[in-house]
Amino acid sequence: MNCPACDCHDTRVIDSRETSDARSGVAVRRRRQCVACAKRFTTYERYERPDLRVVKRDGRVEDFDRDKLEVGVLKACEKRPIPREEIVRLLDTVEEKLRALDAPDVPSTEIGAIVLEGLKALDPVAYLRFASVYKSFADAEHFEKELKQLRQETLAESLEKAQAREAPRRGTKR
Ligand SMILES: [Zn+2]
Repeated sequence: MNCPACDCHDTRVIDSRETSDARSGVAVRRRRQCVACAKRFTTYERYERPDLRVVKRDGRVEDFDRDKLEVGVLKACEKRPIPREEIVRLLDTVEEKLRALDAPDVPSTEIGAIVLEGLKALDPVAYLRFASVYKSFADAEHFEKELKQLRQETLAESLEKAQAREAPRRGTKR
């Protein structure tokens, strides 16, 4: 890092400390002094964390906004018996997976699919709500199939429950 005043590349670190803020994470702040002209300046060294951008369905590109995603997930999970920490964990997993893709631009449909994968394991109702709001399935036919299957499963489950309730009553009548 050359001196901003004289462009000399010989600088001396006179102070070094760790700083952190919520937006950019931990960084090392260094106070430097130019050996040639004695000018003092500050440099920050931080981990490279590439920005993540989302390609919307209409082609627009936006910065990935975890808060916005959280609002959508919370809405889908409204009044469902899902602990808040499960939702935070889900968002952590989603963000981790997105960053692991190592691509700066991720299609919103892909983000939706990752969220749905997590919601599916968490709560079927939240899963369907999220799917219907975001219509994130790249292929609508696939979604229809999922929906049909889930409905049948839920139906079968409630039938079983109903039968289980019915059975002892029938038993007492006999
Ligand atoms: Zn200098």
